[in-house]
Amino acid sequence: MIAENVRVSLFGSISEGLYSAYIGTGGASNKSAYVVTRKKVKEYFDGVVVAVAEFEGLDGERPIVSTFGEVFYEPELRRILSKLRNIRLKSIRCLYEKSCGGIIFYKTRQNTKILLVKNNNGRYWSFPKGHIEEGETEQETAIREIKEETGLDVTLIHGFREISEYSPFGKIRKRVVFFLARAFTDNVKIQEEEIDSYIWVDLQQARKLCSYDNDLRIIEKAELTIHLKA
Ligand code: ATP
Repeated sequence: MIAENVRVSLFGSISEGLYSAYIGTGGASNKSAYVVTRKKVKEYFDGVVVAVAEFEGLDGERPIVSTFGEVFYEPELRRILSKLRNIRLKSIRCLYEKSCGGIIFYKTRQNTKILLVKNNNGRYWSFPKGHIEEGETEQETAIREIKEETGLDVTLIHGFREISEYSPFGKIRKRVVFFLARAFTDNVKIQEEEIDSYIWVDLQQARKLCSYDNDLRIIEKAELTIHLKA
């Protein structure tokens, strides 16, 4: 149901930008849903399912619908849905995901090393990152996730912000924002629940170990910035 286009008919306003509605998909019968939007909406409109949620005390899953082009990430949806009276959110799967992380580098007299990690549910080398939380800036998320996953305190290099977009599974659309982060030690303490292993490598080795095109593009950009600015 996630990412499906639906015909929406509103039947109640719950709070600003949150409505109860019925939706129809391709001739199927009407289904109860909630609408979240930052726009003014009419009683009937075409929308898209941006999340699927389960609520305590309600049977089955409820689609969360918005207008085309509006992006809602999990923390904001949780905050909006917490305004529902007498209904508590149990779980939610969202169409859009956002994480932030860092290309961490450490300069010695001889060379520059960058940090790659392999996380527990993947078999590939990439960079530390994690999901943005409510109220955080992208930079705050990156610094927090780097600290949690590697134990490193880093400084972000001004002017570097690279975006990687992919579909981790199915129709989910994920955006990851990477910053260039300077570490002042190479003494890493990995978070074992998330990270399987880590390795400090020079930029040439990093290019060999990373397999995703968007990671390779970001390594290239990082290399340029390290030479110019760091
Ligand atoms: P986060 O660290 O943001 O919490 P996660 O560990 O839940 O994320 P991802 O690292 O996004 O998940 O990986 C989910 C899936 O997406 C992986 O199984 C992998 O197949 C795919 N994936 C990861 N990185 C990329 C990429 N750069 N390009 C394309 N697909 C990727």
